[in-house]
Amino acid sequence: LSERLSGVFDRLTKRGALSEADVDEALREVRIALLEADVALPVVKDFIAQVREGAVGEAVVKSITPGQMVIKLVHDALVKMLSAGEETATAISLNAPAPVPIMMVGLQGSGKTTSTAKIAKRLAERQGKKVLMASLDTRRPAAQQQLAILAEQIGGRSLPIVPGEPPVAIAKRALQAARLEGFDVVMLDTAGRLAIDEELMDEVAQVHAATNPHETLLVADAMTGQDAVTVAKAFKDRVSVTGIVLTRVDGDARGGAALSMRAVTGCPIKLLGVGEKIDALEDFHADRIAGRILGMGDIVSLVEKAIETTEQEEAERLARKMQKGEFDLDDMASQLRQLLKMGGLGGIMGMLPGLGKMQKQLEGKVDDKIVKRSIAIIESMTPKERKHPDIIKASRKNRIAKGAGVQVQEVNKLLKQHMDMSRMMKQVSKLGKKGLMRSGLAG
Ligand code: GDP
Ligand code: MG
Repeated sequence: LSERLSGVFDRLTKRGALSEADVDEALREVRIALLEADVALPVVKDFIAQVREGAVGEAVVKSITPGQMVIKLVHDALVKMLSAGEETATAISLNAPAPVPIMMVGLQGSGKTTSTAKIAKRLAERQGKKVLMASLDTRRPAAQQQLAILAEQIGGRSLPIVPGEPPVAIAKRALQAARLEGFDVVMLDTAGRLAIDEELMDEVAQVHAATNPHETLLVADAMTGQDAVTVAKAFKDRVSVTGIVLTRVDGDARGGAALSMRAVTGCPIKLLGVGEKIDALEDFHADRIAGRILGMGDIVSLVEKAIETTEQEEAERLARKMQKGEFDLDDMASQLRQLLKMGGLGGIMGMLPGLGKMQKQLEGKVDDKIVKRSIAIIESMTPKERKHPDIIKASRKNRIAKGAGVQVQEVNKLLKQHMDMSRMMKQVSKLGKKGLMRSGLAG
């Protein structure tokens, strides 16, 4: 595959921004890579269309080919799609009155019983929770024993087995026992089937209705190929799945199922099973799975390095200017753009000694709208005004305000901000001259 890709890159010429042809050509290869990773076809189609829209017109970083740039954009889009947004969303939630019911659903052999024990062990060890495990698998002979044995292995507790008891009754008994004995969590391990069937789905739905689980975790094998969509849809339609546990991530499957399941259910992937042992459970990291699905890690890190270098060069250029006491409005705009892109103050701010404290103060207060408005104001100025802000008097201010679609006060505020910043930069550069010289930035 990588050979095919480098072929594409050779053919693509270097340009400032990604053209439709650049994007389409690279995305053809991405499409194949995703299908090879077993991402379901409809998910691939949607994903590609989404990336295509965002990629056309994006800037190509220096020393990087358009094709490589597209791969990096694809990678970023994958990470974004795979991650749940908030960090905490990938943790199992116990934010409900005890005993908190957690229900495990999925096909037979997907790893429900093993994952039940793994999660119980983790909750006990890491959070000191008292966990009761109950097997509702009355179909497979010895399925209930399997969980009892695992419970014993981890020094945990499982519900005593009553032969012939139906699943819903077991679930209710488990909840009651947990209430009486002061358990924090009840894990309900359900029966699976080799394929989705109505009988199974009815059973799962009944247990769900009877226990109202706080978390319903869909356990899925990372090797599930194009079937992932069918499985995820079926479970999502019958019970409200709250999270996904992806198992057999230790195998050589590229893990396309992760993307398919995430896309279909909209649920976060919460945990990864990485082996048969009880400890083989890992937190989910979107960037790792994205790298695995795309299988183009070399290109991604190449582009990341190039972006870093470019940013570093820009930061160094600014640092030199500032040291000479030159911080004009172009520089300010450049800083603001950086701020928007990174969602925080990196670059030059991080490089100047003594700015750490201010950086902390400014962080978290970044409002995209205000930043964008500031940039618009600067863009409405002439190059001369940007270089020499002191020439901006009343009539120029009016013109600039009109151009940026803001009030004159906003222009005044921005000019004052610029003055404050440039004064502060001068002070800092005096203080930190030694530090800057040492890091080779002194001009
Ligand atoms: P269930 O039918 O969904 O309850 O599946 P089980 O928990 O019984 O697991 C079926 C088989 O898969 C067992 O042999 C497990 O040891 C194995 N298994 C479960 N999770 C993993 C995993 O993350 N990696 C590997 N390699 N094997 C796993
Ligand atoms: Mg089982």
